[in-house]
Amino acid sequence: MSEQQKPKKPRPAPEKIIPHSKDMDATKQRVHPRFAKGKYQKIRLISMYTILLGFLLAPWLRWDSRQALLFDVIEPKFYIFGAVFMPQDFYFFAFVFIIAALLLFMVTVYAGRVWCGYACPQTIYVHLYQYVEKIIIGDRNKRIKFDKAPWNAEKILKTLAVHSIWGIFSAVTALTFIAFIVGTDYLFFNGEPLFFMGWGKMTWIFFLLITFVTQTNGGYMREHMCVYICPYGRFQSVMFDKDTLIVSYDYERGEPRGARKKDNTHQYGDCVDCTLCVQVCPTGIDIRDGLQVECIQCAACIDACNEIMDKVGSPRGLIRYTTERQLVDKQKTKIIGWRIFAYIGVLSACIVAAALIVVGRSPLELEIRHDRKQLSSIGRDGMVENSYVLKIVNKTNEKQIYKVRLDGDTKGLTLRSRFKQLPLQANEPYDLPVSVIGDPAIIKAGSTPITITVYSTDGKYSTSAQNMFIYEAKEQK
Ligand code: SF4
Ligand code: SF4
Repeated sequence: MSEQQKPKKPRPAPEKIIPHSKDMDATKQRVHPRFAKGKYQKIRLISMYTILLGFLLAPWLRWDSRQALLFDVIEPKFYIFGAVFMPQDFYFFAFVFIIAALLLFMVTVYAGRVWCGYACPQTIYVHLYQYVEKIIIGDRNKRIKFDKAPWNAEKILKTLAVHSIWGIFSAVTALTFIAFIVGTDYLFFNGEPLFFMGWGKMTWIFFLLITFVTQTNGGYMREHMCVYICPYGRFQSVMFDKDTLIVSYDYERGEPRGARKKDNTHQYGDCVDCTLCVQVCPTGIDIRDGLQVECIQCAACIDACNEIMDKVGSPRGLIRYTTERQLVDKQKTKIIGWRIFAYIGVLSACIVAAALIVVGRSPLELEIRHDRKQLSSIGRDGMVENSYVLKIVNKTNEKQIYKVRLDGDTKGLTLRSRFKQLPLQANEPYDLPVSVIGDPAIIKAGSTPITITVYSTDGKYSTSAQNMFIYEAKEQK
């Protein structure tokens, strides 16, 4: 059969995401992608390294002379740009997670796996660690050769250099993570001659653990993390539809593939079968086989193929960002539909709810807990006593002095507190035991609602809470 009569390969169904390409065998040799150059790679580099820089610098931001982002899980208190979130505020974070998940779903439905290709920490670290290999060992071919070469002095030295640089990046990543939890002051300015001498046992454990995980992920797990472990890649087949933006090979334009003949007598399509799109793929797949679950949509194959198209004088876009509706049905992509309105509706509701929680946060919190062991007792003086614990939280960023009082109908009732005044530091919680004393000659038997108010002595803040005063009938004389 002549080259001209060569039959076309059966067209891969672009509407179906191929669950696993035969080449993605974890036991096979490592993927050593060539570094592609082009428009999309520039966008990726800017996006990925801006995110990385933001992550590394974030713990150093200051707000009101305190770390702007501190997630103290031991206390537990989260400091976010001057606002302090305590366990009672954590439902706010539930909304934040719902908003983030909805945003991710919405972006995935319309823009495909743009998160994976341009912003995912795994992608960023794999790119960074592969770049280190490129600098020390060389580009794709040299790295493949290096892997196969027998061990000698040069291989040992280069391997050591690569691992050491990875190790530094991994340690810096671990320090940054921990700085969000324990703070940069504890981590680096703890008064010891060498900063790590001031760390506790848990800090050491987390430091070593995160360093190890980062080194393993960026250095060894790489694409296997995306292909075998990350659940997000699996969700995509549920979220993708005909109008989702995907990286696709234009099968009709490209096939049959083959190297061009000098006399231009061939009947091939535009694909010159140079395999550059496969060589640059960080997950080692061939996009010409159809959309595969391994594809993180990094667009490296688009840039590589565009370069080849420029060289052979064919129009760019043999591999391109498109949708199934455009590529297969030859119709315009539909963006406006009921789904976008549904997403925007639910998202807006969650954003409004989260904003209301932040705006409506009281700078002073009070909760009254009745002593459960003994609701009511009679003192030596014959008075009825109920004990409570006032859980008071100063949520302002300044020291406050508080007082407590009994409000409402206080006939026959008096409040006794251990302290006349309660000074609380910024964001300090305190459990204040108090008693309400009732005169049995005046108060009625049974339950009487009481209101306790906590107020700052400067008159700026006050809040009240209700509970019950119990005078049990059997206690009556
Ligand atoms: S880079 Fe383009 S021309 Fe080369 S093999 Fe891939 S699709 Fe074909
Ligand atoms: S097929 Fe293309 S877009 Fe998908 S992961 Fe490979 S290089 Fe990136």
